[in-house]
Amino acid sequence: MKEILEGFRGSPPMQSPERYIAAWREPDAIDGKPVDAFVLILRTRGCSWAWNSGGCTMCGYVNDSSANVGEKELEIQLEKAMTAYSGEPYVKIFTSGSFLDPEEVPLSFAKKLVETFGGEAQRILIESRPGYVTPETLGPLKTQARELEIALGLESSNDRVRLKSINKGFTFREYVKAVEVIKAEGLVSKTYLLLKPPFLTEKEALRDAVESIKAVDGITETISLNPVNIQKRTLVEYLWRRGVYRPPWLWTLMEALKTPTKSRLMSSPTAGGGKRGVHNCGECDQEIIKRIEEFSLTQDRELLNADCPCKKDWDVFMEAEEFMGTTADIGRLLETSTEQSF
Ligand code: SF4
Ligand SMILES: [Zn+2]
Repeated sequence: MKEILEGFRGSPPMQSPERYIAAWREPDAIDGKPVDAFVLILRTRGCSWAWNSGGCTMCGYVNDSSANVGEKELEIQLEKAMTAYSGEPYVKIFTSGSFLDPEEVPLSFAKKLVETFGGEAQRILIESRPGYVTPETLGPLKTQARELEIALGLESSNDRVRLKSINKGFTFREYVKAVEVIKAEGLVSKTYLLLKPPFLTEKEALRDAVESIKAVDGITETISLNPVNIQKRTLVEYLWRRGVYRPPWLWTLMEALKTPTKSRLMSSPTAGGGKRGVHNCGECDQEIIKRIEEFSLTQDRELLNADCPCKKDWDVFMEAEEFMGTTADIGRLLETSTEQSF
């Protein structure tokens, strides 16, 4: 169960450059062994891809960034975060961008942060776009940590889906090259996949997730399948508000997670069970999410067999979308007073 330690989301002064975005504790696993993880989201100037190219279609991280965050502010955030840290063996650092992008996180600060947690933490996770993964950026960091894990947001193994539906701006080849660099440096990799990018029907999304899982299986240590959640001021939110996008069903997520893998396969859905997150009928959501969380820790695929009357609706929804050739949220469009439900 996630335990929020502190959060500074919202409008100014909550968005002060000296305040990190959030910190919490959650259960996770290292090499199959359950451990506590400390998660820290640092406030940075934001993702360079978002600044320079508009960013990805589902990503609203820029909402939490602050243009004035430099090295001094990051150091103050780190100091504050250390008061919330209590020696958890797994430390996950998120920045709403790329930790290895020197424009976003100066290399001297990156080194300091890894060194600060490195004394106690068994494993430190950082996230980056593949383009910043080089021996030059990894070299100074890896000596400060016992184990360094680099998470890459590949989202889909299909270049067309990644480039056109998500606007991710890099190819599968570039991702593979980054994983090779991570391996050559003796480090661990994690790969994020996105369940149901915009413009895909539910069935296409399931197919895309299964194909993507198979494509990265065995070349990355952990695969995390992240269902889209509707973030503010994104293209996905624009489509969702117009009823032409529905976040994925939990049934779709469960089905994709049944794919047999050598890599650890997991999912920790953000906003799961809510209108803006992966959801089913509302009755079975929490039970299914619990099963998915447990599966993520244990890899026991038996947990992925569940039932609810809404599973039939999911079947019908999948077929209807294909038949009608639309990604519209058919169920919601048929509801009356839809607007009041926002
Ligand atoms: S998903 Fe990652 S790469 Fe894309 S805009 Fe957001 S932070 Fe940047
Ligand atoms: Zn249900």
